[in-house]
Amino acid sequence: MFHSVSRLHRGWLRLGSAVAMLSLVAVSCSSDASDTAGSIAGTTAPADAATTTTPAFATATTAAATAPTTAGTGPGPGQHGNGPLTVTSDGSSHVQHERMQDGLSALPLDNLSTADREGLIYMREEEKLAHDVYQVLADTWNRPIFTNIATAEATHTDAVMLLLSRHSILDPSATRPPGEFQNATLQGLYGQFTTRGAASLIEALRVGAEIEDLDIADLRARATSTADITLVYDNLELASRNHLRAFVAELAKLGVTYQPVHLPQADYDSIIASPIEG
Ligand code: ZN
Ligand code: ZN
Repeated sequence: MFHSVSRLHRGWLRLGSAVAMLSLVAVSCSSDASDTAGSIAGTTAPADAATTTTPAFATATTAAATAPTTAGTGPGPGQHGNGPLTVTSDGSSHVQHERMQDGLSALPLDNLSTADREGLIYMREEEKLAHDVYQVLADTWNRPIFTNIATAEATHTDAVMLLLSRHSILDPSATRPPGEFQNATLQGLYGQFTTRGAASLIEALRVGAEIEDLDIADLRARATSTADITLVYDNLELASRNHLRAFVAELAKLGVTYQPVHLPQADYDSIIASPIEG
């Protein structure tokens, strides 16, 4: 089941390339360049484009492993709709353990680089940081956004745990209760975020936006060509984009504009300009 969904996901990516190629064909075949500008910029695929590309992605099995990573390419509405994420109406995005496990078991067990291994250990704790901070903020402010997203973050750190188990990497969170981290940077951030988040509801929501801002930047910095890590990181990033939109929208209702701290402004703007995905 998941395997076909995974192929569908690749299919979307390949469909995107095919549409771009068709647009280029349209440029080279057209006698009037101004007529083709719309077809390049336009996002609506002609009906025959989908038909044309179906056999190509239906038979492709290696494209995802050899293609450059898709992390950081921005939102793709509908790409993950049937994947391992479920997205609720408030934007909180939960990884479904079984579906993620199925997805991972369909992928090759590649040897990991040291950077990949260190990245996984870090992301395991960074997702735990998000969970632990939101749990504290939920207790303080009694707002559904913190409770719902805290629940989602528990599924994110669990998804990274699936990768740690798969690659026999020691879990840094195995013996650490909420609020305790192996990584000193993350331990420091926990202290900062919980202190700031206690000051006011607005500051708590700002902390939420900043955690998601940081999470996306860190996931993009750890992008890899390893297929199983990419599957998890792509889904965690999609979830973080949704969570970022949710916190920024709550701040906007209170008349506050969030300024990104970790992501480049243009990357942040493109996320906020697009709707909840999933
Ligand atoms: Zn997360
Ligand atoms: Zn999140």
